[in-house]
Amino acid sequence: MVTIDQPAQMRAWASQEKRAGRRIGLVPTMGYLHEGHLSLVRLARQNADVCVASLFVNPLQFGANEDLDRYPSDAEGDRAKLESESVDVLYAPTAEAMYAPGYQTRVSVNEVTKRLCGAGRPGHFNGVTTVVSKLFHAVCPDVAVFGEKDYQQLATIRRMVRDLDWGIEIVGGPIVREADGLAMSSRNAYLSEDEREAALALSRSLGEARRAYRSGERGGEALLEKVRSVLTAEPLLEVEYAELVDPETFDPVSEVGEGALLALAVHVGKTRLIDNALLAAA
Ligand code: AMP
Repeated sequence: MVTIDQPAQMRAWASQEKRAGRRIGLVPTMGYLHEGHLSLVRLARQNADVCVASLFVNPLQFGANEDLDRYPSDAEGDRAKLESESVDVLYAPTAEAMYAPGYQTRVSVNEVTKRLCGAGRPGHFNGVTTVVSKLFHAVCPDVAVFGEKDYQQLATIRRMVRDLDWGIEIVGGPIVREADGLAMSSRNAYLSEDEREAALALSRSLGEARRAYRSGERGGEALLEKVRSVLTAEPLLEVEYAELVDPETFDPVSEVGEGALLALAVHVGKTRLIDNALLAAA
């Protein structure tokens, strides 16, 4: 595995691969890798000839009172995991290389980012679309893989690629969970034992709603009531949002028609966790 830390070097590598006719796959990450990330690497390898994993904790997507300064990292562990998945390039640009003094350009997607995480984290998606644009221009991927865990991010990136005619295939990877149901996340490392136990209510609440959906319930309020009753029973949790939305536009829906996304953001102590479930006709 080669490590590259400069955008120009990354682009040079990519153009060599293109000339050789190879399809490039990209998996953007912020590091502290877990099985969820590695499942995306495997998907990228299935969909491309060569695979790039990027590792960059992007300051632009963190709010002033968020966890940028304490975001977990394990450079050596990440490197070993990516090596063992036969990743070809680890692209780990420095903050200086990404945002040189005087940097002032943003890429933004306006509608799909308005609600849910966009409402709770102003500027977050702007930071995401900006950094992903820069990663796309450095790596020149034919295919890029993102997790359904961050479903609004996935929808935003699909929209950006379509709107800007970039012709990059965007593949979504299913949520990878711990054995007890907790969605894997680098931020799970922040949880105390009690908080981790309480956090199980997220996946449990989605499970309750899914069961009701399978038994024929299609009403948004009834499904959300199932979710809220599980979440509010946990004193350590504070619900930021629990909503039923269209999985492409993220507009709220009052009924599950063709399909709808149940999306949650919940604070467990100082840690903000998200999870979701796609309810769709089989
Ligand atoms: P992050 O490092 O948290 O920015 O995540 C990098 C990528 O991994 C994003 O596309 C996430 O959606 C994805 N991801 C994070 N956690 C999971 C998970 N539990 N299952 C699947 N994908 C995930």
